[in-house]
Amino acid sequence: MKPRPVIAGNWKMNMNPQEVREFFRSFRPDFPPGPNPELLLFPPFVSLAAALEARPWEPQVEVGVQNIFWEDSGAFTGEVSAPLARASGATHVLIGHSERRHVFGEENEDVVRKVGAALKAGLVPVVCVGETLAERRADRLREVILGQLDAFLPALSGDTDAAFLLAYEPVWAIGTGETATPEDASQAHGMLRSRLREKLGDARADATPILYGGSVKPDNAAELLRAPDVNGVLVGGASLDPASFLAIARAALPLT
Ligand code: PEP
Repeated sequence: MKPRPVIAGNWKMNMNPQEVREFFRSFRPDFPPGPNPELLLFPPFVSLAAALEARPWEPQVEVGVQNIFWEDSGAFTGEVSAPLARASGATHVLIGHSERRHVFGEENEDVVRKVGAALKAGLVPVVCVGETLAERRADRLREVILGQLDAFLPALSGDTDAAFLLAYEPVWAIGTGETATPEDASQAHGMLRSRLREKLGDARADATPILYGGSVKPDNAAELLRAPDVNGVLVGGASLDPASFLAIARAALPLT
């Protein structure tokens, strides 16, 4: 079964608690009755509580965290574990975002540990994969994104019900204003879907949302969302403005 479209916003290192409250004061979804896209926001840790308090209930906005550490507790100054994030109200966690991989040096081994920790704590991982421009130019798209996918699938360790989302985010399109064409997105999403079919079977592969991320804006969201195998979008910059985040969510309404 095709998943409900997911519109996710990654606020990165922006939005203090006061700004989060202001965001939701002007967040006025005027969706018609009926099925809506799933809305998901990732504030920084310090604004998680404000987001949970200020978010509307109708349509429901789910709130996740942008990172976790894989240990449950202990002497890891500055880190936040999956159980801490879950107990604080987060339902989802971003894992393997290109900024974590490229700015903080996270490797596939870190990603697999974090996915395991998230699932154990009851958080839904949103796992990001994507190639750099150099890798794309060297014709390594398939090898890179399927390598990143294969690396974390063992963390599902036979749990046939574990829910997760995938996000294809070409590194060259993040925060650059460069957007992959709908054809580029579909090509990569098709590769990921086929691998999911091989590894997890058709039903689970079809039910796993694969989001596109990379300079998504109100004016390109509709065509990206309509592209085959694209089940939603992960939005950075444009999710900081309630009007543009809502405009992107509205673009998904015909697909619900
Ligand atoms: C992101 O951070 O996941 C992202 C896609 O950012 P932007 O939309 O700003 O390119």
